[in-house]
Amino acid sequence: MRLKDKVALITGGAGGIGRETALLFAREGARVVIADVDDRSGKRLAGRIERAGGAAAYCRADVSRDGDCASMVAVAEAEFGALHVLFNNAGIMLAEDADAVATSEEVWDRTLAVNLKGVFLGCKHGIPALRRAGGGSVINTASFVALMGAATPQLAYTASKGGVVAMTRELAVIHARENIRVNALCPGPLRTELLMKVLDTARKQQRRLVHIPMGRFGEAREIARAALYLASDESSFVTGTEFVVDGGITAAYVTPEATRPR
Ligand code: NAD
Repeated sequence: MRLKDKVALITGGAGGIGRETALLFAREGARVVIADVDDRSGKRLAGRIERAGGAAAYCRADVSRDGDCASMVAVAEAEFGALHVLFNNAGIMLAEDADAVATSEEVWDRTLAVNLKGVFLGCKHGIPALRRAGGGSVINTASFVALMGAATPQLAYTASKGGVVAMTRELAVIHARENIRVNALCPGPLRTELLMKVLDTARKQQRRLVHIPMGRFGEAREIARAALYLASDESSFVTGTEFVVDGGITAAYVTPEATRPR
């Protein structure tokens, strides 16, 4: 068991990456707090983990709200006695997010509030709990778009993820001597609701797939496995990284498909 005796808090834990991570962390011995705004899925998931012999609690928390972030950390400590792993994973990508000209101020503000301020608030309330536990691991979900420009404009989303990477680096340095590691996880395009809601036709999906050397979307469980490594003591000397799990997208200038003789 790679997370035996650890308590993990996962924001956006009721769906996509968060859900797969909650299931995997629980199988690896962690007691898991699922924080989300989707009460139905969150409660159902906590029940499923408990029925399988694990330990889980659901806490409603909108990560863009300070009070909610304080509550989710309090739930972890009250239910399970401590906090060792903070996975700031909740994020949104709004369909109306476009280029600088077309993106409304509301879309910009909402995206930054959840994706960037949410990570800040998670750390604001989570880091004192990690200190109380004697240290721990913070994982902040960014994205490959923090590292390269996307042809499909989603400016607010990209800016928010760039902020997550920059903030992660600084937090890693600030807390390095406190036994608190902080890493950004940068997934490539995944077959989860977040992206498939936007890439809602075969043509749109194909436009994205031509950029991925592996020629397929990633699966949430493939990101969960990377989160497990960053959460566990196996990554004890890893901090401040941009941990990229992207099917080769950031390595590519052209894809194998584009270079194949026709
Ligand atoms: P998802 O939409 O499948 O799941 C996101 C979860 O977050 C949902 O359960 C949702 O209810 C919850 N959530 C939304 N707003 C919230 C809020 N304000 N407070 C708390 N919870 C909230 O998405 P996913 O693909 O699993 O994405 C998870 C993270 O991975 C996000 O930060 C996303 O930006 C990032 N990411 C996703 C992809 C991709 O292609 N899917 C790629 C790179 C990065």
